[in-house]
Order: sequence, then structure tokens, then C-alpha cells
Amino acid sequence: MVNHWNDASEQGYASRHSIRHPRLERGILRQAYATTLLGADNDLAMHGGGNTSIKTAIAYGGGNEKRALYVKATGTPLGAFLPEHFVAMDLEFLEGIRSGGALDDEAMARGFSDHQLAQSGRLPSIESLMHAFIPAKAVDHTHPAAILKIVNRVGGTELLKECFGGDLAVVPYARMGYDLAMAVSGAALENSGCKGVVMAHHGLIVWGEGAREAYDLTISIVNKAEEFLSSMASLPLSPAVGVVPEDVSVKNYELIAPIVKECVSQAQLLLSVGDEESRTTQAPSEPHGANNAGADIDNVSLSLLNTPDVLELIASPDGKNIICDPPMTPDYPMRFRILPLWANISISADPQKIASYIQTAVDKHVDGYKGNLKKHGVAGAPAPDLLPRAIVHPQVGVICIGQTAAAARMAADFTRQAFSIRRAIAESGGVYESLPEEYIFDMQYRGYQKAKMEGH
Ligand SMILES: [Zn+2]
Repeated sequence: MVNHWNDASEQGYASRHSIRHPRLERGILRQAYATTLLGADNDLAMHGGGNTSIKTAIAYGGGNEKRALYVKATGTPLGAFLPEHFVAMDLEFLEGIRSGGALDDEAMARGFSDHQLAQSGRLPSIESLMHAFIPAKAVDHTHPAAILKIVNRVGGTELLKECFGGDLAVVPYARMGYDLAMAVSGAALENSGCKGVVMAHHGLIVWGEGAREAYDLTISIVNKAEEFLSSMASLPLSPAVGVVPEDVSVKNYELIAPIVKECVSQAQLLLSVGDEESRTTQAPSEPHGANNAGADIDNVSLSLLNTPDVLELIASPDGKNIICDPPMTPDYPMRFRILPLWANISISADPQKIASYIQTAVDKHVDGYKGNLKKHGVAGAPAPDLLPRAIVHPQVGVICIGQTAAAARMAADFTRQAFSIRRAIAESGGVYESLPEEYIFDMQYRGYQKAKMEGH
């Protein structure tokens, strides 16, 4: 992985943004610049995953000052990060939570909202406590694919220790928020001299005395992980049989895409009608009928994932096993649900037959997903959440589905990364370990997300 830090670019970024933010100290602007670099690589921070922070003090005149944590606001993109995407938090308040005991998501969102040092209209990252509990000045948290390739396997912790020795501590998966902050800061304390912590089924956090130091450390850790992986015994996949050429995959996609789109739209329409009926049954006094159920159906967009690595994996006899495994981190169910749907019907079959096959498969997926939500205590998931997000067809590639073209492309990026991590684990002789089942919906339906939506 290339280290993209460039002093001239950093100075350019700082002078451009200091015009609008004349009072922001240079260290904050440097950390904002470093954040754009971290977000530029999907194998480091896929679509805004991860966050950064920097600690400083805000002077209030008369010698008064308050210690502050500038931490990335939730939902802001790393790659296009601007200084105003940092939320200035009262660091003393955040540190006080450490000894104050666990707090739930709603309380955390309220506390975060009430203890900002400059009103931003934004909610800081759900991972802000983890940043606050690490005493170092600059903190970078990313989701590097190379680290997940080492740790998301049976015996991953031992392997990570073999690679990094005492430089990195490892913690098992913990829920984001208070639990994770306590686990990470506890591991950092216990392993004095460590430079960072790996969170299994999640990512990496490192720290330094400034933006450059933390950024350089992230890149050097990822490079070491990549070298370690390439030195491991290689067990190539069983040779692929009949890999579909890219141009044929595009032709086949053009044949099947309208059928998939129709089937998914139909399933979404039916689910939304179901939602409407259940709302009507549960709350007869609520106004309804002004919009028919179809009017608020969102569009269904598709994106074809047919890169050579993906087509080869699908065509390998080992491909289906590698592809059809539960997710590795809670980011993935949000993007492609629990499992991709494997469509095993010839592209040259009668279009009616293909439609009926896809419709049945989508319905089965919806039922299975509903069952999973119920099992994990999630109620009232919106209709689009139940639909598949990735359909694998051996003669096409992966048909990725989203409510918008951008969401479909995002599903494609996550799908490709998930496949490549699992394949790397298999090819280095490892046994993939998925996220513990109770955490599958950890991010998607959390109170903090709800609080965010309700504007707390
Ligand atoms: Zn994270």
C-alpha cells in the first residue's frame, strides 16, 4: 500500500481550508488532510468506514481553556473529508464516561449532542469514546482488508501476534460504543508499548503524536500485514472451469438484468403493501390511503460485478463455498445482507422460466431474512432491507442491487472486497471465521442510528 502523504499537498489543503477556518490550529487541518488519504483507498476504509480524531485545547480568553476531542462526524465521507466534518467535543466529559459505567445508545447520543464545544449540527461517530479513551493526540481508525485477512480466521489472534509481536494488541469483537471503547483502551493499557489495537471482525486503531505519525503507522502496519500474507504457504483455488469471458458476461447480464429488476421490484412492492396493511391494522386512526403503497416504492438499481478475479472465483469448484459464507464484520449485512443469492439457472432457458426461478429465489431470501431479523429481535425493518443485494450467476458474475445506482455500486464494492478477503484466507490455508451471529445486525438497527435519524 502506497504512503500518499505529501507535504506540498498537505500545505495546499491547509491553506485552502484555513481561509474558511482561520481559528483552527494547524494540527487539526493536518489530521483532516490525513483523513482524506485514509479514505482514498477502499482496502483501508471502504466507503467512509473508519474515523479519525485529534485532541487539542480550545482557549476561551482570560487564560481559560477546555480540552477538546475533534472527532469525525458520523456519516461523513473520509475520502472527501473537510475540517468542518470534525465535531469538537468536551474531552473531559467523554473521559468521565469511562468511570461512569455503561450507557445505552440513546443516552450516548444525547450526551454527545449536549457536550459539543461548537455547535455543528452533526453527531460525532459512534466510535468517539474509543478515540477519547486513548490518551494519544492523533488517533486513526480504519478497516484494512489486509488485517481482516489475518484476523478473521480460526487462530487469527495467534497469527496476528506472530506477524506483529507486541506492536499490536488484539481484542475480540465488541459492540461499537462504550463496550468497544473499554475493550480497546483496556488492551492498550495492558500491553504497554503497543502501537495500536486490532479489533477482530472490525478493524485497526493506531495512535501517534500527530497526524503524520498516525497515518504513517497505519500504512506501515498494512504493508507488514500484506507482506506476511504473501509469505504464507499458498494453496491456490482448485482451477476454475469454464470462466465466462467478460464480454459474454456483459451480454448475459443484459439478458437477465430486466428480469432481475422486475422480480426484485415486484417483491419490494408486495413487501411495501404488506407494510401498509400491517400499519393500517395496527393503527386504524392513522391517516392512510392518500398515497397508494406503490407510490413510495423506491427504484431498484443494478450494478454488474464481473472483474476477472470475481469471475474466476465463481467458476472455481471452491467458489460457492467461499462466497456463500456469513459476513465478517457488521458493515457487510448492511450492504449485501447475510448471504448472496446463488442463481443456478441457465441463461439460455426460457425467460419465463428464469423469471419464475429468480422470483422464487428472491421470495425464499426474503423469508429467510425475516426469520433472521426475528431471531435477533429486530422488529419493523423497512421493505428494502429484506431484499437480496447480491445475486451470483455463474454465466453473468454478480448482479448487485441497490435503491440507487450509487447504492448498487457500493454493494458491488463490498461484495468484491468480501470475496477477496475470504479467498485470501482460503489460499493461505486458513479457515474463515464469520462474525458471531448475535452481532450480525449490530450496526444496522441500533439505537444510536435511530437517535441519529431522529436528530438527537
Ligand atoms: Zn469501525
